[in-house]
Amino acid sequence: MTAVHIPGVPVIDAGQLVSTSPATGAEAGRLPVATDADVRQAVESARAAGEWWAGLGFTGRRQRMLRWRALLAKRIEQLAELVHVEGGKPTADAIVEIVTAIEHIDWAARNAGRVLGPRRVRSRLILAEFSGHLEYQPHGVVGVIGPWNYPVFTPIGSAAYALAAGNAVVLKPSEYTPAVGQWLVDSFAEVVPEQPVFTAVHGLGDVGAALCHSGVDKLAFTGSTATARKVMAACAETLTPVLIEGGGKDAMIVDSDADLDAAAEACVWGGMTNAGQTCIGIERVYAVDAVFDAFVDKVVTRAGRLTVGPEGTDIGPITMPKQIDVIRRHIDAAITSGGRAVLGGPSAVQPPYVHPTVLVDVPEESAAVREETFGPTLTISRVRDADEAVTRANALSYGLGGSVFGRRRAVATARRLRSGMASINSTLTFAGMSTLPFGGVGDSGFGRIHGEDGLREFGRAKAITRRRARSLLPSMTFERTPADVARLVKAIKVMYGR
Ligand code: NDP
Repeated sequence: MTAVHIPGVPVIDAGQLVSTSPATGAEAGRLPVATDADVRQAVESARAAGEWWAGLGFTGRRQRMLRWRALLAKRIEQLAELVHVEGGKPTADAIVEIVTAIEHIDWAARNAGRVLGPRRVRSRLILAEFSGHLEYQPHGVVGVIGPWNYPVFTPIGSAAYALAAGNAVVLKPSEYTPAVGQWLVDSFAEVVPEQPVFTAVHGLGDVGAALCHSGVDKLAFTGSTATARKVMAACAETLTPVLIEGGGKDAMIVDSDADLDAAAEACVWGGMTNAGQTCIGIERVYAVDAVFDAFVDKVVTRAGRLTVGPEGTDIGPITMPKQIDVIRRHIDAAITSGGRAVLGGPSAVQPPYVHPTVLVDVPEESAAVREETFGPTLTISRVRDADEAVTRANALSYGLGGSVFGRRRAVATARRLRSGMASINSTLTFAGMSTLPFGGVGDSGFGRIHGEDGLREFGRAKAITRRRARSLLPSMTFERTPADVARLVKAIKVMYGR
């Protein structure tokens, strides 16, 4: 019997996970569902492969990873088309996503040796007779669990850094985007055919859960905060370290000295690119009183021009059909609690699409302001000044990214945002800067991908001391004498007792 396909809803059909376009229902991918034993086997094979991979050293890995990024660059249109068909994302957005992922592979490959490789560390007066050595060794096998909204950028953000650090990776892509996940591992296998260094296991959430229990040495999870809690609980049983990239409800602050045209342009992009299905997407805006009306007008004009539909548009379908109920609930809650739709509103929800919606006067307690909406919707609130904006922006338990538009106070305001990242006079740009770490605080998670911190996240610090000379002040030995201890006391008082 063949399973019934609702566009965009993945189904299991004769042991295969089948993904479909949320816009047309066309089949996008069909991949075998992994059993618990398959997941364990994948991790076991990856363990042996990881030893081989680690043995290639930074130079050997760098060469292969640069070949992989060249392959992605050459086939960017093909991958973008698959992202478009499987998740509904407009092809131009898919291209931008893949470009960013390629940049991360390049940077991780080129910089892993410098950041993680062995180095001498200066010793201090205490233990001056020893030299210190530090290096970051691979964990072994890293499990990567990814979401559907950025099915290339997000897993690569963990996988490329883990691979560059010398780990093998087993990826569990979202059930909504398994074909994109498989494409990534297949392309890697083309340039690294010798061993299964980067592989994928497919299925529903239970396969992700199996990966947590499979004996991986570290688990990098990107997804909702609710699932993150389950992942952490599962990993706690085996003390498996986790990296959590959770959800967000990012705020943008528009100060009185902001360039309002630039702010409106970036706000519409940051809030509505990928139909608003972006973890670091702008969902709430706080604009100071002096510029509020002009800013709202500019946002409404720009957002009102966006085109919506299956092909060649600015906004595609909502990838996960059940998310439409959340978006509808948030818009309805905003209106019933006294808010106004100055663009869109309840009628904007036309499954599988949601048209741009801009809401004002929405109380801060409303779900539209407090919970992740994941649609092309924005709430814009009037605030007295940047201080009030920061207080309101920081009121939620989420703390992923954020944005500030302004001049004089912009840097200070960005620093005060309780978030892992912020962009000034732009939105989302920190995600594409491979030299900067990416990650959140509070319910948005912990640990960092990207940049030097992202590389270190996938390496275990290994500290080595080595004797260079006889100890003048022997202390860490039973051979010490009372006179040695007395000299130590005297020395420490001279050094630190002032
Ligand atoms: P989910 O939390 O629903 O799923 C994430 C992944 O976890 C999927 O692969 C899912 O598999 C898997 N999974 C589900 N249940 C379990 C389980 N019990 N144990 C282990 N794994 C499990 O998130 P979404 O896919 O809906 O992604 C959207 C969310 O991701 C948003 O909250 C968004 O903000 C966040 N996100 C965060 C980013 C960041 O960097 N901070 C970046 C991008 C997105 P399956 O799909 O098969 O159920």
